[in-house]
Amino acid sequence: MTAEKGTRLIIAVDGPAGSGKGSVCRSVADRFGLAYLETGAIYRAVGLIALEQGLDAPESLAEAAAEMPFTFRALGGGNYGAFLGEREISDDLRREEVGERASQVSAIPDVRQALLGFQRGYGGSDDAILDGRDVGTVVCPDAGLKIFLTASLEARAERRALELQAKGEPVSLREVSARMAARDARDSGRSHAPLKPAEDAVIVDTTPMTKSESIERVAALISQKISNR
Ligand code: C5P
Repeated sequence: MTAEKGTRLIIAVDGPAGSGKGSVCRSVADRFGLAYLETGAIYRAVGLIALEQGLDAPESLAEAAAEMPFTFRALGGGNYGAFLGEREISDDLRREEVGERASQVSAIPDVRQALLGFQRGYGGSDDAILDGRDVGTVVCPDAGLKIFLTASLEARAERRALELQAKGEPVSLREVSARMAARDARDSGRSHAPLKPAEDAVIVDTTPMTKSESIERVAALISQKISNR
């Protein structure tokens, strides 16, 4: 969907790990023809580079973030891929250790600063949906629709554990839940761009919802926004 000049719609979907942001956004992006960016993939890419190159100093991490040839591409059929140059890194990014490192590097203000331009310019003049932690508060504070997707720690950990187990990763629910609680605390407690709902965000608690119910709830909010344009 290409916006008329000056009417570009940005939809910000923030929330903690395991709230269902990714699957909801992929689905509605496809349905409404929106450019989609999973901003967590950018932080995970920095985490991956940090692990592979043994980077630790904030200046080296900020430099790596500014210079990495990261792209996020629609691959068709509602699938998306993250790339560094021509190397597809989508599978690497889903590793738990990469998520952990991403959460650490994302607390560094210069790393966040280095990634702002890419996020704000994503999609050019097209309508876009971005998911993350601070899209509605910091990246796109003027977004036309802000949604904070959340769920109880228990529900989120169960979803993530099932996802990892389905991929053959031998994880226990207790382990996943403990790691998620630590990541939540780090993401919400950091002083720079912490995870929190924007004041004007619609809060959607997906604890009692199935995946398709979460998708329909968000799709209804988008439809309403588009029809009121
Ligand atoms: O969303 P995902 O779990 O893939 O994000 C990985 C990590 O990247 C998060 O735990 C968070 O620390 C960081 N992140 C962030 N800001 C965003 C998106 C992700 O700090 N907008």
